[in-house]
Amino acid sequence: MPKILDALKAWLMWGVEQQSNYTLKRKILLTNMVAIAALFGWAFYVALFIAFGVSNLNAAIYAVLPFYLMMALVPWLNRLGKYDFARLVSLSATITSVLIPIWIFFGNAFNSHFYFLLLAAAPIVLFTLRQWLLSLAIFLACVALFFLVQTGFFAVQPAIREIEKSTLDLIGNTFIFFAALNFLIFAWFIDKTTSENEQNLGKQAVTDVLTGIPNRRFFDLAFSQEIAKAKRLDTQLILAVIDIDHFKQINDVYGHDAGDEVLQQFADLLLVSTRAGNVIARIGGEEFAVLFPGITVDAAIEAAERIRNAAESTTFNYAGQALKITISLGLSQVRVDIEQTFKAADSALYLAKQGGRNRVVIGLEALQS
Ligand code: GH3
Ligand code: MG
Ligand code: MG
Repeated sequence: MPKILDALKAWLMWGVEQQSNYTLKRKILLTNMVAIAALFGWAFYVALFIAFGVSNLNAAIYAVLPFYLMMALVPWLNRLGKYDFARLVSLSATITSVLIPIWIFFGNAFNSHFYFLLLAAAPIVLFTLRQWLLSLAIFLACVALFFLVQTGFFAVQPAIREIEKSTLDLIGNTFIFFAALNFLIFAWFIDKTTSENEQNLGKQAVTDVLTGIPNRRFFDLAFSQEIAKAKRLDTQLILAVIDIDHFKQINDVYGHDAGDEVLQQFADLLLVSTRAGNVIARIGGEEFAVLFPGITVDAAIEAAERIRNAAESTTFNYAGQALKITISLGLSQVRVDIEQTFKAADSALYLAKQGGRNRVVIGLEALQS
């Protein structure tokens, strides 16, 4: 059973993975969902009509078979990247497959025209804004079809009159129930994927793409919060700016990809060699930063030394080659604002580089205070 579910899920996801735009991803997924839901709907009504022994309705079901085969093509079209075509097939095949049985058989006997109300709303989630004219046309067509059927425009065939009233009502209510259920599922799904997208976007905005640790943007946000906290609790807050020594040489000797790999491995190293309360980030090319809240100057120097030592004693690895690096750190106590604090830490870092690299320097003003 789980295998079938996996296969179904894979089918549903056809065409979704190769897209990076979240809104388009969602629309592709919904296009597949509409087609697959319609296919299942069809199978359900075949089973229902057989169960009720209303075999004189079978012609109505088989008449729409070609359109259901078209729906089965929708995920495949998405997989080929033919998104617009897939949307159009998904929606038009669904509309036609609702219309045909009504036209040749049901009329308004089964309430199946309630599906037109669901389909009237579909363009807004399936199509993009620039396809608004098409969306509007489909919306109007669906609403018009609904009222046309409602007023009895399409004749109910004699075969249907032979069916018992209770059976008719039961099948009729099933159609309304499932149209409403479909609506609920789609609304839930859209809400779920939208909030997931928002979370992803929010996370992306504060994450460094290369290393996966927080970026400068996140660091600045966290920095203001930590400054406020330090003031409130009257504790110290120390910033360390870290710069990899002679990093250019890594790129020059081993290539840019090796440099990227070292940056990633160094970010991991930074993660494990800092405490949970420390804020870390990649703030520039080969520059990183750590915030030490609630710590004395001595303890901060100790923590910075630990990081420096960890970098020095770690062997980085790129494509089987062993790479070694050292880092320089500039420390500063929090000044009037973030910019001033960074300036002071950068001056300390400059001194560390001047002094021969692979060392920790703390800004003079921090020692004086
Ligand atoms: P110093 O010890 O004075 O810091 O020397 P350095 O070579 O590290 O300093 P410099 O600022 O001259 O060079 C930094 C290098 O970092 C230059 C740049 O090509 C490289 N770099 C910056 N961002 C990235 C990146 O994302 N990936 C890779 N591979 N290299 C990067
Ligand atoms: Mg640098
Ligand atoms: Mg450097």
